[in-house]
Amino acid sequence: MSITKFLRAIVVIKILLLSHLVVAQSYSYDDIQKIRNEAFGNSSIRELAVQLTDAVGPRLSGGKGLHNACTWAKETLEGYNLYNTKLEPWGNFGKGWEMEKFYIAMKQPYYQPLIAVPQAWTGGTSGLQIADVVLVDANTEEMLLTYSGKLQGKVVITPFEKELEVSFEPLASRFTDEEIDKFGKSPEFRADPDPYMLERKRKSQAYGVSRQQLKDFCEAEGALAIIENSGSFGTVRSYGDRNGRFLDELGILTIDMTHEHYARMVRLIDRGIDVSLELDVKNRLIDDYSEGVNVIAEIPGVHKKLKDEVVMIGAHIDSWHAGTGGNDNASGVILMMEVMRILKQSGVKLDRTVRIALWTGEEQGLLGSKGWVEKHVYNFDTNEKGPEYDKISAYYNFDYGTGRIKGIFLHDNLALKPIFQDFFEPLDDLGVSLISNRNPGGSDHVMFNRIGIPGFAFIQDRIDYGRGYHTNMDTFERIQLGDLKQAAAVVATLVYQTANFPTKLPRKQLP
Ligand SMILES: [Zn+2]
Repeated sequence: MSITKFLRAIVVIKILLLSHLVVAQSYSYDDIQKIRNEAFGNSSIRELAVQLTDAVGPRLSGGKGLHNACTWAKETLEGYNLYNTKLEPWGNFGKGWEMEKFYIAMKQPYYQPLIAVPQAWTGGTSGLQIADVVLVDANTEEMLLTYSGKLQGKVVITPFEKELEVSFEPLASRFTDEEIDKFGKSPEFRADPDPYMLERKRKSQAYGVSRQQLKDFCEAEGALAIIENSGSFGTVRSYGDRNGRFLDELGILTIDMTHEHYARMVRLIDRGIDVSLELDVKNRLIDDYSEGVNVIAEIPGVHKKLKDEVVMIGAHIDSWHAGTGGNDNASGVILMMEVMRILKQSGVKLDRTVRIALWTGEEQGLLGSKGWVEKHVYNFDTNEKGPEYDKISAYYNFDYGTGRIKGIFLHDNLALKPIFQDFFEPLDDLGVSLISNRNPGGSDHVMFNRIGIPGFAFIQDRIDYGRGYHTNMDTFERIQLGDLKQAAAVVATLVYQTANFPTKLPRKQLP
């Protein structure tokens, strides 16, 4: 072989190696830099956060606030020049509920405002009322019956289950270097059932009168309202009446109240000191938005064969009504909207189509994502596959608070591990390295994992979630804008890599 031939041969081998590398890697550092430039240099996170939490406000499913949120999201995504942007119906949600007026204060033994919020889908008062509070302490139905004839026009409370204990746990923490080193290498991350939950279960089984029984009894007796103990330190965790959205009339007014104000009433009454309250509450059911919708938008893929395949991202846009759903889940919504903006604006090539879905009805049982999956992907009743079953490569979800992304959960699909080791390579300077095979649930990714499609949740720094979610204090302030910028760069990169990966991501074997 002459020298020239030899050199030529080397060049050919190099080109082969390079082209092999390009196929295997399926992403370029140049593109990832473009994504970074958009995410950190041109971020919309703050503006989106103000608009969704402060301007749109609370977003209870079935209500006008959520309708406004979906319309705002759709219009904002249209402004990013996305395709197929629409509000897509997923089924009947039932009735919405609106709070028009809420005033409550303690009148006796002294005047003081109380921190509380009515439960969704419960009723009101006819104008301003002054009412005595009755402590109903009944472990059995027989004991409950001893209150017959004593509750007309009264406000009912029950003994509280737990004393508040001082907590030495920080409200927020970041992963330490030591924790990152240890992560996944010790079995302690597979937690046993929470002993507190086991204890509660045992107690509720021992307790002979259910919440619903108490509610029915109070309603039949003509009580004015029920107050429940919910939240502490000035926060109120809000809930809704489970059945309320399918009823024609509002049920008995039920109010959630922060522990300090609730427990004081219990202690006063226990000592024979009369407690009376002033309240004026007006709530109503609405029918206008009973059809549930999700917000959908796409960036079409460009590869001849792969463009019909899809990488999905999503978060739920509904919230509870006491706050403005800052971390649960405005942070997820604005993050995923920002990812779409970054991918579009940076102009990086996407072989597969990328689709965003902003789900509704999540807080009432993942209703929007379930409805969408049933329509397009898989019918859970008949076990029939839908038209998109073979098309979706992966779904990325964000609903675990505002903390920056440290890694990913593989949800019992270890075949994904080498792929994410490779995907994480250009993300190590953003602190992304952890891979866990755990399968945490609690949000819309569950619907995809159920049918074997990789549905991802992220490992994140733990920030303010426990105290904040579902409460009156889940507001703009709970959102860490810097953390979300990092998360936007990370998710946009992973979506870009997934969209350009040679194959769809491997699916897990279903039992
Ligand atoms: Zn949530």
